[in-house]
Amino acid sequence: MQDTTHHNHPEKSHCRICKEHVDHNNAFYPFCSARCKQVDLGRWATGAYVVSRPATDDEVQEAVFGGKP
Ligand SMILES: [Zn+2]
Repeated sequence: MQDTTHHNHPEKSHCRICKEHVDHNNAFYPFCSARCKQVDLGRWATGAYVVSRPATDDEVQEAVFGGKP
């Protein structure tokens, strides 16, 4: 994995998908949103990464619809 977004700001990072700023206390950290989290889950699901278990229905539900407005 290449990570060129490391700076000296431990509380700030960038979304791994769209590179938007994302705060460390974002519910979807290290992603900016449920959508980007879902994109990453999709990558896992398609075998881009080795994963020990698939996302649960609850996790997918949360990722797709979001836990917050
Ligand atoms: Zn994003």
